[in-house]
Amino acid sequence: MNKLVVMKFGGTSVEDATAIRRTASIVKGRHDKGLTPIVVVSAMAKVTDQLLAAAAAAGRGDRAGALAITARMRCRHVETATALVSAEAIPALTQWLESEFCFLDEILRGLSAVGELTPRISDMVVSMGERLSSRMIADAFSHAGLDSVHVDSRASIVTDAQHGKAVPQDALIEQRLKEHVLPHASAGRTVVMGGFIGSSMDSAPDKLITTTLGRGGSDFTAALVGGGIDAAAIEIWTDVNGIMTTDPRIVPEALRVKTISFEEAAELAYFGAKVLHPATILPAVKKNIPVFVLNSRNPENEGTRIISLAPHCRSPFKSIALKRRLTIIDVVASRMLMSHGYLRAIFEVFDRHKCAVDMVSTSEVSVSLTVDSNEKLPEIAADLSKLADVKYEGRKALICMVGENIRGQNGIAARVFDAIRHVNVRMISQGASEINMSFMVEEDEAEEAIRSLHAAFFNDPDPDIFDIETAPATAASAKGAN
Ligand code: ADP
Ligand code: ASP
Ligand code: MG
Repeated sequence: MNKLVVMKFGGTSVEDATAIRRTASIVKGRHDKGLTPIVVVSAMAKVTDQLLAAAAAAGRGDRAGALAITARMRCRHVETATALVSAEAIPALTQWLESEFCFLDEILRGLSAVGELTPRISDMVVSMGERLSSRMIADAFSHAGLDSVHVDSRASIVTDAQHGKAVPQDALIEQRLKEHVLPHASAGRTVVMGGFIGSSMDSAPDKLITTTLGRGGSDFTAALVGGGIDAAAIEIWTDVNGIMTTDPRIVPEALRVKTISFEEAAELAYFGAKVLHPATILPAVKKNIPVFVLNSRNPENEGTRIISLAPHCRSPFKSIALKRRLTIIDVVASRMLMSHGYLRAIFEVFDRHKCAVDMVSTSEVSVSLTVDSNEKLPEIAADLSKLADVKYEGRKALICMVGENIRGQNGIAARVFDAIRHVNVRMISQGASEINMSFMVEEDEAEEAIRSLHAAFFNDPDPDIFDIETAPATAASAKGAN
């Protein structure tokens, strides 16, 4: 069998007929090289946001608002499909799209009548983006001359029942991929499947309970598929040249990082670099599969290669990530901190509310923690106030500077804080991982801080690690969430 390569295309790479044609020619290019691609696609750009908005509108009883959103979405899909397939194939594809949109509208009508949006129904609605795009793209690929086949990801990506952020079940997934995906790939067909969506273990074979893997989860699907079928490579095709020294929307002159280690990439992804979903790295690490981040608008560019051992880099940092919309929670209790079991009691509260903590710092009388801003904060604070005095403050951001070369280097922290001496730094963490230095700032000062740090640390880039030849990516080309 040919070598298998998983190619994941994000929302902007499938945003319209032109982008989908470009995607088809990139996939053909891999075929021509004797590889067998397995293609994982996102919903068309912005569709997931729109589906969430439609579900929310229906959930609060705004039936007309919800249906207006899906009406626009229906036109966009039908128009795109019509532009992509042969005249003979148009009726079947558009009829299928119409029936799926009727089904979606039925759910939204029901939802607005009941007025309650459960996580399970939300997943059913939000999964439509990938269900529609994947089928449409498979047909478009066939029309473009690829021997392609659509496979419903939900039959293979088995998860637990945590709707909205379901946890994949690796062993079952591997088994299902062998049944549903590998036979097509062995026959040389290009499988097209939707990212982000799965089904819960509680599903009956004839009635799948749809789940989703969390926002940005199509990268995760690609990694699960790549890990499950032992692919030779996992390619994440997006709208920038690769992992850059920071988000090019903040610093347009950011440079492409040519090679980065799994460990560094995972740290960046976890701390907010949206270019990669944080869970993408794990399945790849387990099987030591190289991951590439590539630009579908500039396929000639070699992108970023993520491998287990990155070559030595002259500069301390490879990239700077930013995580916005965080809240700092201060828990203050005189005498309590040193007492046995106190920290456990605090963490139990976060555990009970299934709320992940990003950073922790302690003093004699207080514990400060940072969490994603979310609607559960008042409840969490109420529970914590049974233990101690609590106050919380939102609109914070975490800046995370990542690089293997900070290990054992003296004076890095001094250089970092000197570069942003005009910025009010709230919490600092270094050492939890030896390769990252992170700190909290006010959200509205974060971008300026990143520009100052970028100017200070990437003014003399190591040409072995950073691409200093390609003109910087235009940040304006980046389009936002799907
Ligand atoms: P896709 O829809 O293809 O999954 P995303 O929007 O999820 O794409 O991720 C790509 C975006 O990630 C880029 O447009 C860029 O603005 C942002 N980004 C954030 N940090 C980085 C970084 N360090 N390198 C590259 N892109 C980054
Ligand atoms: N469409 C989903 C989202 O926008 C998943 C993805 O694109 O990765 O979050
Ligand atoms: Mg993404």
